[in-house]
Amino acid sequence: MSNREEYVEKMKAQLDQWNAEIAKWEVRAAEAQATARADLDKRLEMLREHREQAMYQMNLLQHLRSKHNFNITLNSDERIDPAKVLRRFEYHHPIFTVRRTAAQSRHHELINVNRTSFCGAYWGNGFHEDGVVSALRVCESLMTKELPA
Ligand SMILES: Cc1cc2nc3c(=O)[nH]c(=O)nc-3n(C[C@H](O)[C@H](O)[C@H](O)COP(=O)(O)OP(=O)(O)OC[C@H]3O[C@@H](n4cnc5c(N)ncnc54)[C@H](O)[C@@H]3O)c2cc1C
Repeated sequence: MSNREEYVEKMKAQLDQWNAEIAKWEVRAAEAQATARADLDKRLEMLREHREQAMYQMNLLQHLRSKHNFNITLNSDERIDPAKVLRRFEYHHPIFTVRRTAAQSRHHELINVNRTSFCGAYWGNGFHEDGVVSALRVCESLMTKELPA
């Protein structure tokens, strides 16, 4: 297994572990008496912070060859020396509308038209898996259709 695959597996395992722990402590917090609840809430808050502060090592993920380590993090910018910040990006969560469902149901109309097909996470809910699903739909469609010469 490559370093990258091992790293991705490790990150996934870590996120899964945090998610499982958060779920476990959420159940305990819901069941706890008021006095114990404050302690449990504090622990939950700590776990959520860990999850939200995940740091991605881009040298491994993008096979970068550099003596410098490049990292991406979603939060906790107060822990980073401002002199070392290369760029900041502001993201907005997509807003899902009713019209989206209608548009998504017409994906087939944009596959193999003028030798061009569209795929991307926007054909689903915007997650990695949605991108893969839409790409597979394109592949399947191309495999079953006769391609232009
Ligand atoms: C900070 C962050 C964290 C995320 N975390 C998760 C997560 O934990 N789990 C999860 O499932 N999803 C996560 N997502 C969402 C996930 O990353 C995206 O849904 C996924 O990357 C989208 O893949 P895509 O191929 O559809 O689009 P993109 O990855 O955006 O790829 C589109 C590509 O097209 C290129 N491009 C754009 N316009 C043009 C043009 N005119 N000509 C040529 N090229 C162009 C862009 O440069 C880009 O490389 C996260 C997203 C962000 C921003």
